[in-house]
Amino acid sequence: MTDDKKGFGQSKPKEVRTNLRFKQSNPKEREHDATKEYPSIAQQAKNMAQSAKDVAKDPRWVDNEEYERRMTLCRACPLYDKEQNRCRKCGCMLKGKARFKAGKCPIQKW
Ligand code: SF4
Repeated sequence: MTDDKKGFGQSKPKEVRTNLRFKQSNPKEREHDATKEYPSIAQQAKNMAQSAKDVAKDPRWVDNEEYERRMTLCRACPLYDKEQNRCRKCGCMLKGKARFKAGKCPIQKW
């Protein structure tokens, strides 16, 4: 195939792909933004286990007013992940965590 017939769907030259892969795999090349990342899976599991223990001790729900107050604070927080409705600090699902009286914001906003 001649160059002028290459078109849509043609992949990038090998050296470009190699550089791109290097940048993606090299931690120094990646931009770090803690507000865009979740804790490690192990840490999320610990946080979830602690939340489950707290809720098992006190399984009461908060009323709608308190739930909305908490969620308003979360929605304004830079650690809030809107797409997943999760907290990036602890990794917890806020639909559940903010509902329980025993649920706690990891940075004491509520
Ligand atoms: S739980 Fe706390 S840290 Fe997490 S998103 Fe809500 S306000 Fe922010």
